[in-house]
Amino acid sequence: MIYDVSIPITNAMPVWPSDPPVKLTPESHLSRDKSHTVRLTRIDMGSHTGTHIDAPWHFVANGRRLNEIPIETLVGPATVCEIRGVRSIRRDLVEKLPLKGIERILFKTGNSNHWNDGTFFEEFVYLEPDAAQILVDRGVKLVGIDYLSIDQYKSEKHPTHFVLLERDVVIVEGLNLSEVPPGNYTMAALPLNLQDADGAPARVILMKA
Ligand SMILES: [Zn+2]
Repeated sequence: MIYDVSIPITNAMPVWPSDPPVKLTPESHLSRDKSHTVRLTRIDMGSHTGTHIDAPWHFVANGRRLNEIPIETLVGPATVCEIRGVRSIRRDLVEKLPLKGIERILFKTGNSNHWNDGTFFEEFVYLEPDAAQILVDRGVKLVGIDYLSIDQYKSEKHPTHFVLLERDVVIVEGLNLSEVPPGNYTMAALPLNLQDADGAPARVILMKA
C-alpha cells in the first residue's frame, strides 16, 4: 500500500498569504513538421508551495541549503501520530508519545480536513516550540505537519522553526494525512533539487510494509 500524502499543485490551491500565487500556464507549439503539438507548462510559484521541505537556510543564517540535506534523512522509517481536538501540539502531548527509536515523525491533525476549504485556513494546528525541543532532544531528524507552517499563523519570531532548523532537523510542511491511519511507514520525501535553495516542493509518499 502506497499513500501519496502530497497536495496536488493547481492554480486554485491555498498558499501562504504572503507567498507568490501558483500560476501554471499551459503552452504549446506545433512540431517542425507540423504533425503534432508539443505541450509544456510554464511554472510560477514559491519554493514553499504545497507539500514542501524547509531547509535550515529558510530561517537560519549559514544553515544548510536544501541540497546539503542528506537524502538519507528524507527517506526511511516514519511514524504518523494522530493528535485530535487541540489548537496546538503541546509539550505534554509530545511527552506521552513513544518516541524511542523514532527518527521521522509526521503529525496528523484536524488540519488535514481543511485542504478542500477553497481558502487558506488560518486556525491551523501548529507545534509548540517546547514540544519541538523534546523531539530534538530525543534525536528526531525530520518533523512533518499537515498544513503550511509548523509555527502558529502570524507568528512573528517563528520559534518552532528555529528550535528545529538550528539543530538541522528537517521540516516537511503541507502534508495531507487525511487518508493515512496512524502507525509506522517507510517514507520518501523528495524535493526538487533546487541548488542552494531554502526549500522546495516535494512529492511525499508513505509505504506500508
Ligand atoms: Zn516552508
